[in-house]
Amino acid sequence: MAGSVHCEPEVEESESLRSDANIAGPMTDPVPGPRTESPGEDVSPAMPPAYGQEGHTETPPPMDDAPVGRAAQAAVQAMGRAREGLPRPDQTRVIVVANQKGGVGKTTTTVNLAASLALHGGRVLVIDLDPQGNASTALGIDHHAEVPSIYDVLVDSKPLSDIVQPVPDVEGLFCAPATIDLAGAEIELVSLVARESRLQRAIQAYEQPLDYILIDCPPSLGLLTVNALVAGAEVLIPIQCEYYALEGLGQLLRNVDLVRGHLNPKLHVSTILLTMYDGRTRLASQVADEVRSHFGNEVLRTSIPRSVRISEAPSYGQTVLTYDPGSSGSLSYLEAAREIALRGVGVHYDGQHAHVLPANNQHSMQEGIQ
Ligand code: ATP
Ligand code: MG
Repeated sequence: MAGSVHCEPEVEESESLRSDANIAGPMTDPVPGPRTESPGEDVSPAMPPAYGQEGHTETPPPMDDAPVGRAAQAAVQAMGRAREGLPRPDQTRVIVVANQKGGVGKTTTTVNLAASLALHGGRVLVIDLDPQGNASTALGIDHHAEVPSIYDVLVDSKPLSDIVQPVPDVEGLFCAPATIDLAGAEIELVSLVARESRLQRAIQAYEQPLDYILIDCPPSLGLLTVNALVAGAEVLIPIQCEYYALEGLGQLLRNVDLVRGHLNPKLHVSTILLTMYDGRTRLASQVADEVRSHFGNEVLRTSIPRSVRISEAPSYGQTVLTYDPGSSGSLSYLEAAREIALRGVGVHYDGQHAHVLPANNQHSMQEGIQ
């Protein structure tokens, strides 16, 4: 399987590392030369205190532990930054990663954000709710047919704690795997009691302390996705920077409204993340502008660049955070995670200033979206 995903020229990764392609759109500050510090590094004193790290005194790992060259420098800086820690949410944030369009980066975003949040010091659970089991694969979690999985939780009411596995190599990161059994669950759930809220109940009964639960949804709006929407409070929508990016989003937003109205009043779209951003194309920046004009503050300032390293990592059962820590993809997911963590405590960081977010700024979200 190794090396099976080589769809782009090798040069592009170094290009995107040089051009700092992970920050896109109108808020972009051009950053010449190799990236040496995070755009969010220079935080204002108004930022909430970091957790778990008194005085931010941790030093980066020794160079001997890292790969050589410029990537090594970036890796060391990235790991040092990650260890600074971020504000811990008061209670577990359950984030549903959804978009019924296929291949937009849901799974990639789920696993890499989860790893980033764990590297930032959080305890994070990924729930793989897609019968394809891609999130389980990408996290290096065994998910052959006999493995206890999220299917057993949803259909046979097995406790979540019986199926959760620690993710190798990333402390604080856990995975509830999906096996091929889950393909039948959409139909089996139909006849079960409380079919829409079985995941919610399982999460409520899970007693391990967690900062984040990220749920990777399949590319459909069936009962599995509905279970995720009932279980979560936040929806994160990855949007691929390509033509027709917004098409079909209206249906997802209407489903979110329906679930909020009938089953889960807390549910809201909290985050939009632009994925596979190619800073060399005009189309990508046009899509980014369009998305930002539809969804104001929900769009993260950080965009995820199109990156060979990101697409290669799953074939090694790794996230890009461990596969190539200094790559532009790794740095951009770390930065997106930082934004998400800060937003969780009501702070919006625009690269220069921290702002307190308005309590509810999603009223106009559906305008103009089909
Ligand atoms: P599905 O709807 O099938 O579940 P998805 O929305 O989960 O798909 P992914 O599987 O995350 O999408 O990504 C689709 C493909 O694009 C994968 O091959 C992945 O490796 C690749 N990919 C995702 N993000 C990037 C990126 N930033 N750069 C390059 N390739 C990427
Ligand atoms: Mg997927």
